[in-house]
Amino acid sequence: MAEYSIGVDLGGTNLRAAAISRDGKLLDKVSGLTNFTEGREAVLDDIVSAIESIRKKHGEVLAGVGVGVPGFIRIKEGFITGSNNLPYLENFPVRDAISQRLGSPVILENDANAAAMGEKWIGAGRGVDDLVLLTLGTGIGGGIISGGRVVRGHVGMAGELGHLTVIPGGNPCGCGNRGCLEKHASATAVTAMARLMQLGEDLTSKQVCDLAAQNSIIGQKARTIWQVVGEALGAALATLVNTFNFPLYLLSGGMLPAWDLFAPHMMRVLEERSFTYRATKGETRIEQATLGNEAGLFGAAYLPWLEG
Ligand SMILES: [Zn+2]
Repeated sequence: MAEYSIGVDLGGTNLRAAAISRDGKLLDKVSGLTNFTEGREAVLDDIVSAIESIRKKHGEVLAGVGVGVPGFIRIKEGFITGSNNLPYLENFPVRDAISQRLGSPVILENDANAAAMGEKWIGAGRGVDDLVLLTLGTGIGGGIISGGRVVRGHVGMAGELGHLTVIPGGNPCGCGNRGCLEKHASATAVTAMARLMQLGEDLTSKQVCDLAAQNSIIGQKARTIWQVVGEALGAALATLVNTFNFPLYLLSGGMLPAWDLFAPHMMRVLEERSFTYRATKGETRIEQATLGNEAGLFGAAYLPWLEG
């Protein structure tokens, strides 16, 4: 029986777990809703039983378990903190609680960090040891891989790139700052701008993307939204390229279908604002991630191989 690891992706409402082999093959996957209203014990039970159901099928050659969670992580203590989505798991030793129930070691990681590791392992970042991933969703997550490892910072909170300031004095953010990247370039920001521009109440990114194809005032308004998104991303990328001089920056998430609408603005602003980018054009790639939703699962599963 081949050795495998288990990756878990804990979202706001759902839970996915997968068995993945050493060479990155998906062996098995389970997914389900997690009932967060039932309290901490119920959530922990859901996580542990998902892992157990996979372990029962694939045996004891388990290399380890990686769990990706939204929110800020205290890596040494195995805590989640500042996560709006997981109130029951806040400031509680969630890693050790899962580990004790399973009787095997568990690694806790921020979900975007895990996704960056997944892309590095078998996605668009394969063979690249230094990269940044931005996950464009309801918020914006970030993961930084340097020398083939997740950059965690001293407590585990590095890579919160959705809170880079791209517009000083811009829209207020739940983090207390104003003008955060995710307030101007997330799916939530697209929906909010569409509402402000009277295009519709609760339009999805896909709908705003479709409207932008219209040759009309409405189409023009929708294209302006994608311009704002692109310019905010360009400003963030300029900061990242200037900071890291990495060869690869990846974008993922449900907004990628609008790539052709926002990317020209993003690349223009990146070029305007980053000397490092201009000096390394052709060697610095800004690209779409390829694993989509699976990146976090693969990356979480990869962590035990790195730590082992
Ligand atoms: Zn913020």
